[in-house]
Amino acid sequence: MVEFFISLLIASPRKESEIKPVILCAKKLGVQVKIKSGSHDYEGISFRSEFPFVMLDLSNLDDIKIDLKEGTVWVQAGATFGQLYYAIAKKSRVHGISGGVCFSAGTGGLISGGGLGTVMRKFGHAADNVVDARVMDVNGNILDRKTMKEDMFWAIIGGGGASFGVILAWKLKLVPVPEKVTVFTVYKKLESNQKLLQKWQNTSHQLPDGLFIRAVIQNNETGNDKSLLRTAATGLALKKNVANLPGLDQFCISMAGGQMSRLKFF
Ligand SMILES: Cc1cc2nc3c(=O)[nH]c(=O)nc-3n(C[C@H](O)[C@H](O)[C@H](O)COP(=O)(O)OP(=O)(O)OC[C@H]3O[C@@H](n4cnc5c(N)ncnc54)[C@H](O)[C@@H]3O)c2cc1C
Repeated sequence: MVEFFISLLIASPRKESEIKPVILCAKKLGVQVKIKSGSHDYEGISFRSEFPFVMLDLSNLDDIKIDLKEGTVWVQAGATFGQLYYAIAKKSRVHGISGGVCFSAGTGGLISGGGLGTVMRKFGHAADNVVDARVMDVNGNILDRKTMKEDMFWAIIGGGGASFGVILAWKLKLVPVPEKVTVFTVYKKLESNQKLLQKWQNTSHQLPDGLFIRAVIQNNETGNDKSLLRTAATGLALKKNVANLPGLDQFCISMAGGQMSRLKFF
């Protein structure tokens, strides 16, 4: 059985300049540095390791600066998507970003891996919307897009977290969204709805790009119902009224079935 270490110590910098000594010290002592932003790694590799390590917890570095005029936002890597969505929504009801579905995932790790979310069909992955970044390299130097050069910039936006340096902050493009959108979650028993799931597989990519529907197969947690699995279709339409969307009748209405009342209009 593999034995895992937990961190020798946790460094929680409050400013970027406090990161450099952590990196240089760890290098001198020959221990790994594990960078943790939102701690949503499925295998826990930001907080456990087969080797002795120091955890660099970036959760205090969560500053967000929005420039509506330029249509961009600088977000420090310790901020979660929830913090970012909330900050943007407070400033504008017609701007958004391409980020994750899950609001508690960290911007540091999620964007490093590409980033899949509800508006990606229209605006691309989160990483496609990165216009600049600040990264600390292994010697403690801070680089931006210009100084890191295009090869490294290309690598950090999708090449995976913990690979090329410590991401300090991302500069992201804001995307236009309507003031009101439609979101919904519909649950179906997998047992009796396999055809519907197949339909989702075959048609969801043909729907208008302002409509995102994902299907998740998950344990049935509802208690009384004994079927083991259910599918949850979660969607977002960049429209106030989904009934007007062409293509919706093919799939979405049948997915929502008798549960149209569960569609929420914001
Ligand atoms: C409940 C849940 C929901 C999810 N939903 C989505 C989703 O909707 N869309 C999607 O695309 N993905 C989703 N994911 C996957 C998630 O994007 C990845 O696991 C991502 O790596 C998490 O980033 P984090 O910062 O939260 O995690 P962490 O555990 O902090 O980090 C993940 C990895 O990135 C490295 N890393 C973290 N921060 C930095 C940094 N600042 N610089 C360099 N390396 C860093 C870590 O060392 C680690 O290797 C989800 C995961 C979970 C558990």
